[in-house]
Amino acid sequence: MKTVSINNFTYPIVETFHSIQGEGAWTGVNALFIRLAGCDVGCPWCDQKESWSAKGYTRRSIPELTLSARQSNPAIVVITGGEPLLHDLNPLTKELKSLGLRIHLETSGAHRFTGCFDWVTFSPKPYKSPHESIYAQASELKVVIDDEQDLQWAEIQGQKVGAGVVKYLQPQWTNPRSQELVFDYVLGHPDWRVSLQTHKFLGVR
Ligand code: SF4
Repeated sequence: MKTVSINNFTYPIVETFHSIQGEGAWTGVNALFIRLAGCDVGCPWCDQKESWSAKGYTRRSIPELTLSARQSNPAIVVITGGEPLLHDLNPLTKELKSLGLRIHLETSGAHRFTGCFDWVTFSPKPYKSPHESIYAQASELKVVIDDEQDLQWAEIQGQKVGAGVVKYLQPQWTNPRSQELVFDYVLGHPDWRVSLQTHKFLGVR
């Protein structure tokens, strides 16, 4: 059987950038983001619509990506999208791990889980059901809330993740009413926490 060398493996990349993790349990931590192109989930309020099609994005090799990660000297490397699980993440994460880097994933879980991660942020969306393989992998559950129906969706997803998984509700940034919905819900349901997109408050990516 023909094998593909890790050095020849490439991914369509929207961008890599060095910032802080703005959301969830790792908020405020120095992070290098690798944003992979391609998403078939279709959230109407998505703030990354330019990432939906992988066409036109430069494919970058694993050595190129690991070099970016090493040069940034981050506390964590966050693989995000788009929907990163559209791609086989085993080769990339294996190489990043071999450098001693801490690797996080942000995913809707809409495709079969691949890769080796230290932390998995599972952010399921009602527009495309999660693949069953994600539930055992989640470290934190983060559900974006736009309306009341999303709260019901969050509860269904909350029952499917492990008991130790931290559960967050995150207001949909462009809908001010969602902030009130999340605030009120968390006061009535102490097993949930509020996640805010702090990078947007800071005016950074
Ligand atoms: Fe956008 Fe993420 Fe939804 Fe895909 S899963 S449409 S990238 S918010």
